Amino acid sequence: MSEDNHPPVQQVEGRCRICGARTGVLRLTEFNLKLCPPCYLRFYERRVRRAVEKHDMLQEGDRVVVAVSGGKDSTALLYALRRLGVVMGFHLSALHFHLNMGEYSDRNLGVVEEQCSRAGVLLRVVRIGDMGLRVQKVKGWHPCAVCGAIKRSLLDREARGMDATVVATAHTLEDILLFAFKNLLSRKYYLPPPVLPAAERLVRKVKPLYYMPERLNLEYCRQRDIPVFAEKCPAWSPRGHALKEVFDHMERIIPSGKLQLLLSLRETMPEGETTDREPPSYCTRCGEPTSQPLCAMCQLSDWFAHGSASPAPR
Ligand code: AMP
Ligand code: ZN
Repeated sequence: MSEDNHPPVQQVEGRCRICGARTGVLRLTEFNLKLCPPCYLRFYERRVRRAVEKHDMLQEGDRVVVAVSGGKDSTALLYALRRLGVVMGFHLSALHFHLNMGEYSDRNLGVVEEQCSRAGVLLRVVRIGDMGLRVQKVKGWHPCAVCGAIKRSLLDREARGMDATVVATAHTLEDILLFAFKNLLSRKYYLPPPVLPAAERLVRKVKPLYYMPERLNLEYCRQRDIPVFAEKCPAWSPRGHALKEVFDHMERIIPSGKLQLLLSLRETMPEGETTDREPPSYCTRCGEPTSQPLCAMCQLSDWFAHGSASPAPR
């Protein structure tokens, strides 16, 4: 789960740009806007809708599965899509992975259950412990890499089992910038795409929060009074996440800089391959798509069963 300390949205004096109200006005530096809470909620949902429409992410009749961690981003996504689903005519359900990290994961699940029951959205829970898996350091793999590999491969398997036509994840503006930045640092010149088309055994994936700064997701949950799971993951380390601070620092100096940077990158960098879409080769044991003889899940299963396999990190 992504952890961060983005500066919260500030309440300020002044009037709402849209309706002129003076109560609880929020300052959105990213958009050079002041909005009252009701106008903020409409603004937020309109921005999600605009991203969905701009990239043709969802259509009428789609069966959309939202991957919900319980954190601010996927929670805001779940609630915004629930409303959009009514307007656009797609069906929504939720998928949560219980990550087998003791009471932390149990508390996490409790919050997700509460969120989904309040939203009236059907929730499927998958417990990785039932598959003999755990999030921990495995030879050569950081726990976050293990967690990511498990979630990535289970997402496709479970979404197929749920008969989904689309999976929506809560990757945010900062996630996209971070990914692009890490790519640039290793001389890979491509951006993660907002839509990954379906492929053999791979469900179509969309990122409706592609242009959404994370603190706006938190503010949306606050304003809607939705419970959010905010505990720090026990396996979390600053590695990989600290880079996001670079973008917050830039935003402090140049308001709206993050979004402008992404828009500029989109004009210059092509969308590129992601680890998901590399194959068409398949795991020799379970038949899932992978670029290696054994998929990450089968390698990890061997490791947890025998402690002997030596999976190669990706
Ligand atoms: P992460 O790899 O933690 O950045 O997560 C990427 C995306 O996967 C998030 O935006 C969520 O949509 C989804 N996700 C993260 N954790 C979980 C979880 N425990 N269960 C279901 N979906 C998750
Ligand atoms: Zn496999």
